Amino acid sequence: MATLLIVEDDALLLDALTGQLQQLDFNVCTACSVAEATAVLQSQAVDGIILDLGLPGADGMELLTWARTHIAGLPVLILTARDGIDDRIHGLNAGADDYITKPFNMQELQARLQAMLRRARQPAFTQASSASGGPSTAIGSLQIDHGQRSAVLGGEPLELTQREWELLELLVNRCGEVVTRDDVLAAWRAGPPEPGQAAAAPLNSNALEVYVHRLRRKLDASNLVIRNIRGLGYMLARPAE
Ligand code: CA
Repeated sequence: MATLLIVEDDALLLDALTGQLQQLDFNVCTACSVAEATAVLQSQAVDGIILDLGLPGADGMELLTWARTHIAGLPVLILTARDGIDDRIHGLNAGADDYITKPFNMQELQARLQAMLRRARQPAFTQASSASGGPSTAIGSLQIDHGQRSAVLGGEPLELTQREWELLELLVNRCGEVVTRDDVLAAWRAGPPEPGQAAAAPLNSNALEVYVHRLRRKLDASNLVIRNIRGLGYMLARPAE
């Protein structure tokens, strides 16, 4: 039975969430502030956190930062009224595994919570040695060789242009996390220009969409999915269990 810590200062919401999650067979512990939450985390093991940001005293983001440096791999779902794109990016970049804004749908919260805990239970990917002996990463049927800048899908080499490779490597390195458009554009700008293309070929969101489209087609044969995260960017979803 998984144990969840709910950090929420709205007593009514805390009660409602606790009741619902207990019905789903979770062990639930609660805290109304960052200080209380830190004390709970120091005294018992939990499998995940539902974290409000607007809390009395210290902001919920402080708990996220603390948890990220003290408890490796602890999944955190932010549940907050802060619904700006900047807030969401900030929360996800600070290491939150998911971000839901209030008002929220209880069933969606439950589904995303379960998905987050499932992901936490399985390793995102396995580090292995590639044929070249260099560092490589395998996700499902895809294996990429970071040193050779090459990828193999289901045993077959994947033909990738330079930019497709850089996009794929970024998505693989951050599998299950949001990769923003700016992240990809920055990686492209840092890399050499695509052979056979004018160095000045525009690096913008339209170009990115074209590359994402091409990469999706090349990954068609796999169970890997590049999701559009509306308003944020893209995410390589972990293979379905
Ligand atoms: Ca609050």
